[in-house]
Amino acid sequence: MHFDLTQEQLMIKKMIKEFADEVVAPGADERDKTKQFPKEIFAQLAELDILGLPFPEEYGGGGADTISFALVVEELSRACGSTGITYSAHISLGGAPLALFGTEQQKLTYLSRICSGESLGAFGLTEPSAGSDAGGTRTTAVREGDDWRINGSKCFITNASYAKFLALTAVTDKEQGSRGITAFIVPTDAPGFTVIDNYEKLGLHSSNTTELVLEDVVVPDENVLGKMGEGFKQFLITLDGGRIGIGAMAVGIAQAAYDRALAYARQRIAFGQSISKFQAIQFKLADIAMQIELARTMVLKAAWLKDQGRKFTKEAAMAKLYASEIAMAATHQAIQIHGGYGYMREYQVERFFRDARLLEIGEGTSEILRSVIAREVGCS
Ligand SMILES: Cc1cc2nc3c(=O)[nH]c(=O)nc-3n(C[C@H](O)[C@H](O)[C@H](O)COP(=O)(O)OP(=O)(O)OC[C@H]3O[C@@H](n4cnc5c(N)ncnc54)[C@H](O)[C@@H]3O)c2cc1C
Repeated sequence: MHFDLTQEQLMIKKMIKEFADEVVAPGADERDKTKQFPKEIFAQLAELDILGLPFPEEYGGGGADTISFALVVEELSRACGSTGITYSAHISLGGAPLALFGTEQQKLTYLSRICSGESLGAFGLTEPSAGSDAGGTRTTAVREGDDWRINGSKCFITNASYAKFLALTAVTDKEQGSRGITAFIVPTDAPGFTVIDNYEKLGLHSSNTTELVLEDVVVPDENVLGKMGEGFKQFLITLDGGRIGIGAMAVGIAQAAYDRALAYARQRIAFGQSISKFQAIQFKLADIAMQIELARTMVLKAAWLKDQGRKFTKEAAMAKLYASEIAMAATHQAIQIHGGYGYMREYQVERFFRDARLLEIGEGTSEILRSVIAREVGCS
């Protein structure tokens, strides 16, 4: 057993760290304020061949592993949470279901456009009355000859305004419950398809979060993704991988908060000395450092298991749950260490705090993840 990254992983980490520091970080505060989507950054990531990183080279991907994907998400999120979630969703929610369940033709047609960056990746599972309980999907797809007619709506969908198509779930056989849900690849410019970008969010302001409305959207049978009736199962498998991305995001945001807090504690003088000399502050920083170390190790272990083709449901759930909770703790304490300045936008830690909050909710709430872990350890 060893904990070293490979040469290739180290190279990717170095490249993306420089990119994050030089290109992503400088505009992050401004984008947060103006809610401007990081479009230019994604154009540059496409040039760097990062947008298809873990997908096979035959579809234009980078052929890299999940560990490399996690390293990229962590570094981007350290600089800007919105950029981090956009990238994580693009790969692990947008591209992954196509790579995992698509036919050869679907991969050539759709996955290749994800890899090139021609389309951002998105994934439509959540509905107004079906979030954690995704089996309660109400969107329907009715067969009409060789086509399917889809009606319904989805909410909180990341990246859809910048996606040319996305995979979404619809009920094809109501009698079968969650076994009657099928996934479809739907072009976002199809007649009857509306993408609404209108949410007022707590954080991740420059990420794109949308509502989807489907009114008599017609897609051909060849757009069924995977097997009929397996959409629910496919999306649960997809979410296992997505949780590695959210875990990596949490580690990146926690690291950013820690870096700022440590630097501030060293230079802030109170009672004649730097506040980093007070044990109360030292213990906060020691705890955050330890939690980040553990969260990063858990995320990379889950990624490693996935790369080995081994089961990783439990580890991905644990990594996402732990990392998202310590990201909240780290950003909370980073504000505390900054005192009143931490409450001000200028010092950035309040952005990290707002951005981190989503991580306990998206891709499995903390409550749902505890249920997943309980099931995996044999409670039920
Ligand atoms: C910014 C953002 C981006 C998102 N991006 C996407 C995306 O790209 N694609 C997508 O499909 N979805 C996306 N989501 C949706 C997200 O995955 C859901 O919000 C999440 O799964 C929770 O569902 P819900 O909001 O319906 O809450 P609910 O499921 O209604 O949960 C409400 C509360 O009840 C608890 N609860 C529910 N069921 C149980 C249970 N069985 N046991 C214990 N507690 C329970 C929950 O933990 C939570 O605390 C996004 C959400 C946000 C906010």
